[in-house]
Amino acid sequence: DLDRFQMLNDSLGHQFGDELLIKVSERLNALSDERIMVAYSGGDEFMICQQHVEDIDDVINLLGHIKQCFEESYDVQGEKHNITATMGVAVYPQSGLDADTLLRNADVALYRAKEQGRNTYQFYTEGMQDREVMRLELDKDLDRALANDEFVLHFQPQLDLNDASINSVEALIRWQHPRRGLLPPVDFIPLAEESGRITDIGRWVVRAACQQLAKWQNSSHANLRIAVNLSGRELDDEGIVEHIRETLEYHGVPADRLEVELTEEIFIQNIEHNLNQLSKLHKLGVHLAIDDFGVGYSSLGYLRDFPVDLLKIDRSFITDVTERHDDAVITRAVINLAHNLGIQVVAEGVETRDQLNFLKNHRCDLIQGYFISRPIPAAELERALGSGLLNVDTPVGT
Ligand code: C2E
Ligand code: CA
Ligand code: CA
Repeated sequence: DLDRFQMLNDSLGHQFGDELLIKVSERLNALSDERIMVAYSGGDEFMICQQHVEDIDDVINLLGHIKQCFEESYDVQGEKHNITATMGVAVYPQSGLDADTLLRNADVALYRAKEQGRNTYQFYTEGMQDREVMRLELDKDLDRALANDEFVLHFQPQLDLNDASINSVEALIRWQHPRRGLLPPVDFIPLAEESGRITDIGRWVVRAACQQLAKWQNSSHANLRIAVNLSGRELDDEGIVEHIRETLEYHGVPADRLEVELTEEIFIQNIEHNLNQLSKLHKLGVHLAIDDFGVGYSSLGYLRDFPVDLLKIDRSFITDVTERHDDAVITRAVINLAHNLGIQVVAEGVETRDQLNFLKNHRCDLIQGYFISRPIPAAELERALGSGLLNVDTPVGT
């Protein structure tokens, strides 16, 4: 299965898509011999059948050859494009005894490979089937989840290390599934992204956050800002900025009460489009934060070009920040870099007092993590704030 083919097809046109498919076919076809058969199965999927497999190394070998077909860029309509592919593998007799089963299980393995990132492969294993059934069921249920009002936002406070105040919370979505209970985002956000339902879910998140902000405006929590997460797929939606503007206006919420968290890939991929979207958001007065900073890319150039207010150091650096020299060095460097650019820094995943002290000593602005509070429902957050429970001595939530 070609990676991100749909996106290329949508943005560069069908003519482009067709030409690319032909060129890919040509390279894959060159692999065929008396043991190897190459077929096109429709869309952006190809099937390759290898017979008389003596040894698993034969398969690995073939996978290597397929991968090589994507090493050199493709020349389509006068421009070079780097294309990658993701593969699912089913081997007779372990993964199935007939063609139908083998094909279905190769598809299951392909799906798993895609979940784990692209440009990779997965062999089918037993147990994948159960996950696949669960996935299909959830996908079906997702259809009704919005209509049935099954999503909820939980809120995780961010503690300002300068004055120990709490002025912002991150909204994290959960799905109150009628049979499976409260599901975390990993169980359904990737599914929703795959099917495109993420657009509507993202719009719901914005509405729910603005509703909450409107409620807090006339209470003792009027100082609170809400940060929502927006994936790249959601930012592709041309109408999202206008939706945010309208929703803020409808609820009478000032734009600077809302913050949008975006992962680094947004600043690296599809730059022109995303820069345009983010500039519009920034002009509205919405704050912008970079999420999971430090895990994806080494390029920092984008910090110069994009209007960014806040940078969130990824939890993976914080976990061992007091034990591992390299994590400590990176964390300090990120804090200094951000401050030199006039950007505030949040550390995520703070679970201990030692981590808090380290971050405070190195002038990190805000912290977020179980040490202060788990993500909790709005009512619980209000209670905790009201009773002064949200301090560093009493972690909240279970
Ligand atoms: P994220 O934006 O990086 O959110 C932080 C995650 O770390 C949350 O997981 C939070 O519960 C968890 N966390 C917070 N403090 C600690 C800590 O001290 N220790 C540990 N071990 N974990 C901590 P959660 O709620 O499961 O969310 C996972 C991811 O799902 C989020 O990662 C975000 O990328 C995505 N997500 C959540 N809500 C939304 C949403 O409304 N829209 C979109 N597109 N994605 C969302
Ligand atoms: Ca986040
Ligand atoms: Ca994060």
